[in-house]
Amino acid sequence: MRICVPRESAPGEHRVALTPEAVTKLGAAGFEIVVERGAGVAAGFTDAAYAAAGAEPGETGATPTCDGVARVARPSPAEVAALQRGTVLVGFLQPLEDPEGIARLRERGVVAFAMESIPRTTRAQTMDALSSQATIAGYKAVLLAADRSPKLFPMLMTAAGTIAPARVLVLGAGVAGLQAIATARRLGAVVSAFDVRPAVAEQVASLGATFLDLGVRGEETEGGYALELTAEQQREQQNALAARIPDFDVVVTTAAVPGRPAPRLIPASSVEAMQPGSVIVDLAAETGGNCELTEPGREIDHGGITIVGLTNVASLMPADASRLYARNVSALLEHLAPGGTLELDFTDEITDGACVTRPAEEVAA
Ligand code: NAD
Repeated sequence: MRICVPRESAPGEHRVALTPEAVTKLGAAGFEIVVERGAGVAAGFTDAAYAAAGAEPGETGATPTCDGVARVARPSPAEVAALQRGTVLVGFLQPLEDPEGIARLRERGVVAFAMESIPRTTRAQTMDALSSQATIAGYKAVLLAADRSPKLFPMLMTAAGTIAPARVLVLGAGVAGLQAIATARRLGAVVSAFDVRPAVAEQVASLGATFLDLGVRGEETEGGYALELTAEQQREQQNALAARIPDFDVVVTTAAVPGRPAPRLIPASSVEAMQPGSVIVDLAAETGGNCELTEPGREIDHGGITIVGLTNVASLMPADASRLYARNVSALLEHLAPGGTLELDFTDEITDGACVTRPAEEVAA
């Protein structure tokens, strides 16, 4: 199977779908890899490194000569139009957020696999790109907060006296939230966290953080995701949080419900009750934000409170984000094409679960 890795075209996307390390590994597994010139430059991987790893240099828009395309972000309409019928496409295709994009791929006859739709089972763990990228985002969110905060994170005892540690609150303790807790702890902050899934309390405690009891308990799906709270529960949560938020110097929010707008946890009034210099980093900005004042893609100052609403935070650490993503993509490609030969088995739960469009003849088969 010949796989093309295009240079990402989405604004602010610095990651690349395959690294030189992954090219070498896939080459040994029977794949031929074409890497568009400059595809890895923003992540620190040169064309020379790809060539040394055995990749063929590809020109812009060389995808028609390939059986498969591995990318990070979903393709633009023009990029979809350049794909041949039957091409296998792998990437973050946003099947829940972008039904139009999925319809475009279907019309084009692309066999598309969304990294978001890979079932989160033990067997598919090596392919779990949502987790690998959330880990990076959780880490970076805390670094952004520490950088924007006028306070030190650790407690310092110096000849000039003692500095109290920063107090950090993490809302949503899934993959990104747990990494945020661990990172804030490593920097010496005193950390509290909350999640609607009560099962998380133990994980929070094991990282040395305190689980905030807000008196709100949500339901959990079989896949381990939270279900959306009722309007009444949401109000209770906002009220309980409003009383606590002014105690914190930094709030990192990561709360999400798949396919739904981000739950609103922090109303403007709670932001306004925080101490000047406090920082909110809202990792849910992409789906609307956990804070009412978040402006997706921007960092703002609201009366002395910094609200960081940057989207695609994993892309701010493109080298390691790409390394992990490339391993996820490679694992999926090797699953779809053992030994480099495409063998789509739609009775397999990973292949079937991740596939978001397939031509009619594949469905019939
Ligand atoms: P996510 O990004 O969808 O959500 C992030 C967190 O927000 C979740 O922990 C969720 O409970 C929480 N949340 C939702 N509404 C909230 C609210 N109103 N207030 C506070 N928190 C709220 O989830 P994720 O981090 O991608 O994954 C969640 C869980 O999925 C994991 O913790 C795990 O149980 C499961 N998972 C399993 C595997 C696996 O088995 N291979 C891999 C990854 C994740």
